[in-house]
Amino acid sequence: MGKPPVWKSSLIILFNSIFEYDYTQCVSGLITNKYLHIVGILYAVPDLITNSLAKRCILETPLCRYIPEHEVYTINTQLPSGCEPIDKMLGGGFESGVITQIFGEAGSGKTNICLQLAVQCVRNGKKAVLIDTEAISPERFRQIAGEDAKEIAQNIIIYEPHDFEEQYAAVHEVEKICSENIGLIIVDSATSFYRFGLDDDETSIRNRRELANQIGYLHALARKYGLVVVITNQVYSDVNSGSHLPIGGTSLEHISKTIIQLERMESRAGKRRAKLWKHRSRPEGEICEFTITGEGIR
Ligand code: ATP
Ligand code: MG
Repeated sequence: MGKPPVWKSSLIILFNSIFEYDYTQCVSGLITNKYLHIVGILYAVPDLITNSLAKRCILETPLCRYIPEHEVYTINTQLPSGCEPIDKMLGGGFESGVITQIFGEAGSGKTNICLQLAVQCVRNGKKAVLIDTEAISPERFRQIAGEDAKEIAQNIIIYEPHDFEEQYAAVHEVEKICSENIGLIIVDSATSFYRFGLDDDETSIRNRRELANQIGYLHALARKYGLVVVITNQVYSDVNSGSHLPIGGTSLEHISKTIIQLERMESRAGKRRAKLWKHRSRPEGEICEFTITGEGIR
């Protein structure tokens, strides 16, 4: 039997679902393993850990760095959209701390979901950031938000970039306000400006890298501030299969931890199908149907 691997790189343990995790055992187990170089434990519920074995382990282990309060990651929570079939498919709602990608053909309901999520986020007591590249309809927002549309709108911060550079600026600008009770960042659509550059090979490669950087940056914000981040993506028709596939390349696919595909349903006005393409803790391939109504998605 070969030697056990020596992990030269630092290991940070992230406790996402502390309630389901026997973290004390896990930490003490890891710390007795001299091959692990533990630099910190990012925990979700500070109070739970205060008098725990985990904290004693951290303090008693010279290799460990105690993560200060302002770096603490918040517990992974879910933001329900208020559309029951979709929330059920996602096991409760849109997960915080990760990027969720919604892709689908024109008119499949991407913006409707985004607007409804923003409204739900504000109703839950947090602000939402909307990076809007496609001129969202204020009228549609009013229909979805209902009677308290005005108050809700005051808690939605909107950026309206006009090209890919401005989209980059908006994405980087957002961090300045992330600590101000923000619960949700939406980029609708993340790929419309990117798509404009696809005809030219050189621009295409540059834009692909740039897009991956932007979404990577949002992923880091999602983790650092425990935010729900939703990006929408457009599709191309695959000539071989005839199906609609998401654009943006594989890096976009990798960095999106949840991917939902939306489809129109022939001859059924307002009816849409959502399919779970990718999820960290739910079965992939699950399908649900929802309806676009005057008041939003149901
Ligand atoms: P795109 O890729 O073009 O941005 P999308 O996926 O964002 O499309 P949405 O704008 O979310 O699509 O959805 C458009 C659909 O919503 C259309 O079929 C439209 O008829 C429907 N819709 C919009 N307003 C209402 C309403 N008040 N009542 C019923 N359906 C509506
Ligand atoms: Mg749209």
